Amino acid sequence: MTTGKTGGTTGDTTNGATGDATGGATGNLRTLTITRPDDWHLHLRDGDLMAAVLPWTTRCFARAVVMPNLRPPVTTAAAAAAYYERILDALHPDVDFTPLMTLYLTDTMKPAEIERAKAQGLVVAAKLYPAGATTNADAGVTDLARARPLLEALAACGMPLLVHGEVTDPAVDVFDREAVFIERHLRPLVESMPDLKVVLEHVTTRQAVAFVEQGPPTLAATITAHHLLLNRGAMFQGGLNPHFYCLPVLKREEHRLALVAAATGGSPKFFLGTDSAPHPRAAKEAACGCAGIFSAPVAIEAYAAVFEQAGALDRLEGFCGRHGPLFYGLPFNRGTLTLERRACSVPSTVPDGAAGDLVPLAAGSSLRWSVVAPPAGLIRGD
Ligand SMILES: [Zn+2]
Repeated sequence: MTTGKTGGTTGDTTNGATGDATGGATGNLRTLTITRPDDWHLHLRDGDLMAAVLPWTTRCFARAVVMPNLRPPVTTAAAAAAYYERILDALHPDVDFTPLMTLYLTDTMKPAEIERAKAQGLVVAAKLYPAGATTNADAGVTDLARARPLLEALAACGMPLLVHGEVTDPAVDVFDREAVFIERHLRPLVESMPDLKVVLEHVTTRQAVAFVEQGPPTLAATITAHHLLLNRGAMFQGGLNPHFYCLPVLKREEHRLALVAAATGGSPKFFLGTDSAPHPRAAKEAACGCAGIFSAPVAIEAYAAVFEQAGALDRLEGFCGRHGPLFYGLPFNRGTLTLERRACSVPSTVPDGAAGDLVPLAAGSSLRWSVVAPPAGLIRGD
């Protein structure tokens, strides 16, 4: 990583997770140049909404792990390939962006589908949604024991299992569902399948952080920008704020602090996954509003703010651009992204591709870091 008071220079691509600390982690840095980052957990949706939100991701990220919870979900290699093509069709031809596709595990999927997806080369992981856990998760796995042949197929081909780690048992308090899932389901799974790569997605609790830290090298986690920035008080500040409602739900401050320590601590087990999840404003501001926070328009700026606050800007590059590829066994990106310490005004709304609009994370506010446009590496051939 390159940092400086006047401008970025050539990015260092060899020094791994902790980056180049020259210039100091805090103080009066003016610019910050990092390897172009990836988003290891993203909801792009489909159709007009996908076309509307995609540029917010491609302005910064070189690759993104695209979640499969469409209606119907992406449960076959063929469906993943078709979705991949729709994403490429929606991209501006000059934009260099690679969607990394995922399969949605169901009770009826056969292990051969995972082998087919692996052979096809577009699918990098499979997503486990406990049935009913979140948006479009009705078709998810009802019993991990029944999914065992699928998990063995994943382990055999080195494909990570991505886990939405919450129990759906209504008897368990919504704020406890992640911690209970870990003890009831994930710990036994990880212990019984040491060869299976597992990413506990969008961790939200100190229990999840501790579990991942203490687990084998095959266990990692993504962390969202909103769980780093906000605690559960945000949902109730001055009234009910539907745009801060997501799943797993925001937690207490002690958990947010544990997430910040994990993200900024330099461990390669933690990497960037925005879980950016756009819903039209009308679906959020409703009597029964949808879960999901649309963070793509401010994601990298928000992560930078968190790392700066923690005095760890020298570790931003590892979290954003190194730890994920290392875990997935993919190459580092070759382009760079430069951020500048200049206030960026976050729009109140952005178009949703239809008649409505979307409300991004931090809508109407200002963040301390801005992306220098056009980002290096954004255009093919850079
Ligand atoms: Zn998600």
